[in-house]
Amino acid sequence: MKFKVWIKNYTSLTIGGGSEGKADISISDLVIPPSSIKGAMRTAINFYLKETDLKNKYSSCYEIRPDKIKERHSNGKPCDVCKLFGYPDSKDIGCFTINVVTDVEKLPKYVLTRVSIEDKTQKAKEGALFSQETIPPENEIEIEIDFRCDDNHMLKLLLYSLSALRLWRLGRNSLIDLKVEDICQKVNNCDNEMREIFNSLKDYMW
Ligand SMILES: [Zn+2]
Repeated sequence: MKFKVWIKNYTSLTIGGGSEGKADISISDLVIPPSSIKGAMRTAINFYLKETDLKNKYSSCYEIRPDKIKERHSNGKPCDVCKLFGYPDSKDIGCFTINVVTDVEKLPKYVLTRVSIEDKTQKAKEGALFSQETIPPENEIEIEIDFRCDDNHMLKLLLYSLSALRLWRLGRNSLIDLKVEDICQKVNNCDNEMREIFNSLKDYMW
């Protein structure tokens, strides 16, 4: 089952592209990798579960590093979050894939000069100014989610993850909002809870 999600950025958006070295980063590196969006959703839902009663409905190992996840699920029984997002050595890659529909190359962009910060000292590296192309605020990116698990419990967790992403950050601290195509009619047994989540996601929040 496929559905659309629109992401709008409220601050400049820079995802993808490395920050190593002094080389300037061009728009060709500024692809928006689906893995970055997935990663941000995973971080957001873990944060959300910790803070809300939703943790009574969904389990999470709260691990991010593949080796740690592997360790935690060595019994072969992944937590709900890992089931949805995928985990190391699983036969498939979770319950969904993301496809970026918008041609990011065609979005307006500007060049931002940044300073490389040394991880150890948290100080600017010497001569570490570099420029990077960035998408200015108020642009919309359309993505398509292909949900493959025939499991409403998991679909709800996916929607909660999108909800949590609204309150989180994408890429280099970009403030974003998003809305989701209402596919309640297409879902078997779209119950009240699911209806409510779709309602809360049908328009931008801000
Ligand atoms: Zn897990």
